[in-house]
Amino acid sequence: MYFGLIMLYGGLGEAAVRAIAVDLSPDTNSWPLWFNVLVAILAGSFVGYWQHRLEHRVDILWPVHGIHHVPDKVNITNNSVVHFIELICGTILTQLVLLTIGISDEGLLISGLFTIMQGYFIHTNSDIRIGRWNHVLASCELHRFHHSNYVPEAGNFGSEIVLWDKLFGSYIYRPDQKQLEVGVAKPHTFPSPFNIIKGWWHPFRYWFRRVGRQPPYFYTERSKIPVRDRLEHATPSDSQ
Ligand SMILES: [Zn+2]
Ligand SMILES: [Zn+2]
Repeated sequence: MYFGLIMLYGGLGEAAVRAIAVDLSPDTNSWPLWFNVLVAILAGSFVGYWQHRLEHRVDILWPVHGIHHVPDKVNITNNSVVHFIELICGTILTQLVLLTIGISDEGLLISGLFTIMQGYFIHTNSDIRIGRWNHVLASCELHRFHHSNYVPEAGNFGSEIVLWDKLFGSYIYRPDQKQLEVGVAKPHTFPSPFNIIKGWWHPFRYWFRRVGRQPPYFYTERSKIPVRDRLEHATPSDSQ
């Protein structure tokens, strides 16, 4: 069900981009295909990194993205547990940037397939280890840390590559760490991921109720701590 929905949301975002941005793209692009793909992956992952990071850091955005973090296990079905606001806005933002740069259709297709494949790969619930490639590509090893309910180790916002996490100080890789609890600290503040309608409604409910109240979300506390402090306090013994 969720899989069908994300296809629909992605299609809606894509249609919106095509409707408003037909004139943005330069007519021709003389770059070789590999360079188109490389630029598309770098630019697309940069937009995705900041969208994702802001969804964690900005209080009013967290209820939109938080439903993705409610399950207490990371598995391939989590990849589709995404609010329609997040997917449609993300598709529009990324595609607008790529079209403005002038990425070719083939470049868009290949980088898009790479992004989709990486989305499923990083949510794989298996012991796939890619060793030193963890310093280049996002992986299930790294993304499990992102789903940790222990704030200091929940970095790794990049879904395709780790470049932006490394540059902006949110990269976490501890190959020897075994203990890792997945989920949100207060799952009762979110609807069940099996209730799609409540999931859709959840951020609106939060926004309507928020005025004059202290929101009951774990990440609102987190957002007040500078990123670097959080990461410096993250030691393997902290999370045992
Ligand atoms: Zn996240
Ligand atoms: Zn995830």
